[in-house]
Amino acid sequence: MAKRKIFTDDAPCLYKVCRPVERFDGKLSELIDDMAETMYQAEGVGLAGPQVGMLRRVFVIDVGEGILEFINPEILETSGTQNGAEGCLSFPGEYGMVERPNFVRVKAQDRNGNWFEMEGEELFARAVCHENDHLDGIVFKDRMSRILTEEELAD
Ligand code: ZN
Repeated sequence: MAKRKIFTDDAPCLYKVCRPVERFDGKLSELIDDMAETMYQAEGVGLAGPQVGMLRRVFVIDVGEGILEFINPEILETSGTQNGAEGCLSFPGEYGMVERPNFVRVKAQDRNGNWFEMEGEELFARAVCHENDHLDGIVFKDRMSRILTEEELAD
């Protein structure tokens, strides 16, 4: 595994619609392993392909229960709302209030191409929506209602 560079701020790769993953091969597994390592080293909750310069529909999250890998994800259902602080490894030091669904049900493929469904609330729902947005070139700053100051974050 190897740590990859995380693109930040105005990097064009963060603002493009990603293409589906078509090949479920060793190269994909390597990318996913690298993304997980990069995310953990940066102490993030999630990381999407375009953040490491790969314009493919893949993201990883860890909301406290180990690494979860989503390839070609589709959000099938959302319900409720949550409003909370959000940040992104591509915008270090910046946080804002973002409204997200409180529940999501998502389907995706694993690294072998097998489809699965998963559902969850709160942080899981927030992380899936945030990372899924990255695959369409949308960053959390496009959705935030206001910026949080460092003082507010410390509370
Ligand atoms: Zn992000």
